[in-house]
Amino acid sequence: IFNMGKSKAKENGEDISDVTFADVAGIDEAKQELKEVVDFLKEPEKFKKIGAKIPKGVLLLGEPGTGKTLLAKALAGEANCSFISVTGSNFVDKFVGNGAARVRHLFEEAKKKKPCIIFIDEIDAIGGKRNSINGSEERNQTLNELLASMNGFSDDDGIIVIGATNRLDTLDNALLRSGRFDTKIYIGLPDLKARKQIFQVHSENKFLSEDIDFDSLARMTSYFSGADIENVMNKAGLYALKEEESMISMKHINKAINHLIAGEEKKDRAGISEKDKKLTAYHEAGHAIVAKLYSECNVTKISIIPTTHGAGGYTLIDYGDISYMSKKDIINQIANALGGRAAEELIYGNDNVTTGASADIRRVTELVEGMIKSYGMNEKFGMISLENHTGLDLEVLKESKLIVSDIYSSTLEFLKENKDILHEVANRLLENEVILESEFDSIIKNFHRIEF
Ligand code: ADP
Ligand code: ZN
Repeated sequence: IFNMGKSKAKENGEDISDVTFADVAGIDEAKQELKEVVDFLKEPEKFKKIGAKIPKGVLLLGEPGTGKTLLAKALAGEANCSFISVTGSNFVDKFVGNGAARVRHLFEEAKKKKPCIIFIDEIDAIGGKRNSINGSEERNQTLNELLASMNGFSDDDGIIVIGATNRLDTLDNALLRSGRFDTKIYIGLPDLKARKQIFQVHSENKFLSEDIDFDSLARMTSYFSGADIENVMNKAGLYALKEEESMISMKHINKAINHLIAGEEKKDRAGISEKDKKLTAYHEAGHAIVAKLYSECNVTKISIIPTTHGAGGYTLIDYGDISYMSKKDIINQIANALGGRAAEELIYGNDNVTTGASADIRRVTELVEGMIKSYGMNEKFGMISLENHTGLDLEVLKESKLIVSDIYSSTLEFLKENKDILHEVANRLLENEVILESEFDSIIKNFHRIEF
């Protein structure tokens, strides 16, 4: 057993994990991605023979309590290999060299136990961006040791490092390079269906009364993390005990949910008003419909569950693996990005559009300026690179504005003609929070069937 603790005798690591994927509810996409890693840990020879490349490092990104630790443990359980768990902040030390020594020790330990998973929670504590201002010598050495250690074992060593953080933007780029943490898996807050499953997982081994309605529990807990739900079920058990009842019933769980919503800083999330939720639903539906029907792109996921990055929702558009973008592609991307604001204007009126489109507007600006300044895709400026030109900024701005206004008008017009679909998609989002590709496509198909 590995012990990184400085003073406390508490052990950080545990050797063999008895958690499996079945204990992790709802994060199916992430589990799917990790299946390959399981196969590799079980039969490295097979992979070696065909020369398949297996990641050395996997980065799990997401808010606290979304099951990153649980998932890493389950991976170890599935692969039947050792599991060493440490926390990034344990490597931060006042004395130069101490952190690095701990990293070295960690990898030595892992080598003795392979196949082995090393799980580093809060990896940002070690792997934060290096710069001359905040880069202490101690931290640099620790990070360098981690990079060197990861380089030091080869593909077939049977060691996989799993890092967890909710702050990808603060990680040093060196960590993300190929051969290190080159697989990134984003784990968001659970959607409706996932929350139901998490409630069910945490109801096993508990006595529940017959009135438990998992669907309604899932509905009541928008924006709860898996850890929140576990918390709710434990608390509900305590309430039942206190009332000297032998079973947990809906009233206990309700009470626990209310307690969590009222009593914690989660308030800002759980308290998102219905009004904001509805606005987000229309905004995202706008992106999705413009992308699918106007630009003819695939929309893989639409969500109104807020992310760690502060977005109220998101729409994933699949642009495929393209090495070159045509002018048309760029114009389509601009239209897709404007779809959110256009939907807001259409439904709420021009005076009521919100700040929610700021990231979209940034993206649009980047794209249109690229067309003009870098790609020679503008009549007025022709094929002249303006990347290093100053003095034309105002002209570029005027031209950008014309182009964007033009695309915006068409986008708005298009949504106007497809208002029925917009309502339908927004309503579906309000109901289920997430729409996946197949459902979205069938909504669209249904509408076309009615029209023709
Ligand atoms: P993280 O590492 O992302 O902060 P954890 O894995 O520590 O989150 O989650 C804390 C606890 O919350 C877990 O031990 C588990 O009981 C519960 N939990 C979180 N996500 C899930 C999930 N998807 N399915 C089942 N339980 C979950
Ligand atoms: Zn948007």
